[in-house]
Amino acid sequence: MKRYSLFAIAREALTHHQGWERAWRSPAPKPGYDVVIIGAGGHGLATAYYLGRNHGIRNVAILEKGWLGGGNTGRNTTIIRSNYLQDPSAAIYEKSRSLYETLSQDLNFNVMFSPRGVMMLAQTHHEVRGYLRTAHANALQGVVTEFISPARVKELCPILNIDGPRYPVLGALWQPRGGTGRHDAVAWGYARACSAMGMDIIQQCEVTGVRSENGKVTGVETTKGHIGTGKLGIVVAGHSGQVAQMAGFRLPVESMALQALVSEPIKPCMDVVVMANTVHGYMSQSDKGEMVIGGGTDGFNNYTQRGSFQHIEETLRALIETFPMLSRLKMLRQWGGIVDMTGDRSPIISKTPLGNCFINCGWGTGGFKAIPGSGWAMAELIAKGEPSPLAAAFDMGRFREGRFIDESVAAGVAH
Ligand SMILES: Cc1cc2nc3c(=O)[nH]c(=O)nc-3n(C[C@H](O)[C@H](O)[C@H](O)COP(=O)(O)OP(=O)(O)OC[C@H]3O[C@@H](n4cnc5c(N)ncnc54)[C@H](O)[C@@H]3O)c2cc1C
Repeated sequence: MKRYSLFAIAREALTHHQGWERAWRSPAPKPGYDVVIIGAGGHGLATAYYLGRNHGIRNVAILEKGWLGGGNTGRNTTIIRSNYLQDPSAAIYEKSRSLYETLSQDLNFNVMFSPRGVMMLAQTHHEVRGYLRTAHANALQGVVTEFISPARVKELCPILNIDGPRYPVLGALWQPRGGTGRHDAVAWGYARACSAMGMDIIQQCEVTGVRSENGKVTGVETTKGHIGTGKLGIVVAGHSGQVAQMAGFRLPVESMALQALVSEPIKPCMDVVVMANTVHGYMSQSDKGEMVIGGGTDGFNNYTQRGSFQHIEETLRALIETFPMLSRLKMLRQWGGIVDMTGDRSPIISKTPLGNCFINCGWGTGGFKAIPGSGWAMAELIAKGEPSPLAAAFDMGRFREGRFIDESVAAGVAH
């Protein structure tokens, strides 16, 4: 793989950009691999990357029914933070956030990580108590956050109305090294690095069945034929229930559409991420100038990756009292992605009833930020057959045994 560098850009500028290599190969599937990963979203690709980089396992195929990064990875609002309440969550999300700090250098691909700071507004006394508790927990976990005053909120984000008609801002939980990244670039960067290690990313290849013998997976049926495998990783987010059913087990996961929208581009007016859980909405400004606005999930299970008028209305009605300037903006586009929700709003990184089959899902509304850390932990689980301390608490057995990792507050407004 040719490295991207300033010199490469200069060279290509002089030769009409004719010399760039394809970022990744598009091979036909081989009859079999040491590891097959279903799902070329961020989590599947990161799993493959760390399998190669950390464990030297490179005879790997990543199977994708659509195009890589075309699922939730390319549909999210790109917020990255690690200010969770429970210890196992803070550990994996902070590992992930810290990997983001150097991801562009690691992958030699600019993922545009922008640690501009994330604030979660406290707009009720209940929220003040909750965020103070999280700030104390974060201090013990080594996650840098602080509870800031309304005056500091206004200083960091002048377009915010802190004297809202219903819910004045009483403070905020502030994570200065949280921020955003470019979602497609994260998928593309991992894909390029996986391909360079000799791994096969096979797009337009839907898995339609899982073959097993004596409690072990032997291969998968796909729209491109049968592919044998020594180990299987299922990393398909909103479609986890369907693929688990093919493998013969059930998951405590529900699939729902989560929606977002962006405005027309405007001049820079906001250089932090703001989440307003009480009114239910959040916003940041993209590098192109669009205001990126996140809403909630549909109130019913479905697999349609679409937006709805009701959500535009609900989300904007909620946010206009916090950001009055929104009332004068036109909205440009709106979309949905199918998220996989667990009861405790924490992910699953787990062995399954099939000996050589592992599952990574349940990131729900907030898994973009977790891509590097989740890939790191899932790769270790697949390589060693046992979870690392990072992943141990997230096994499926916790739902049977009542060991919930309750992040319903941290995941409150999604993300
Ligand atoms: C609107 C919205 C906003 C969000 N905002 C944020 C945010 O701000 N911050 C944050 O941290 N998270 C956010 N999220 C959540 C985040 O996007 C997801 O948790 C994360 O992208 C999941 O990544 P993934 O790789 O597991 O799934 P995906 O990217 O969905 O990848 C799974 C892949 O599996 C493929 N697949 C499914 N079934 C099969 C099959 N049978 N055969 C082959 N391939 C298959 C799919 O096509 C898909 O490409 C948001 C999500 C949405 C929808």
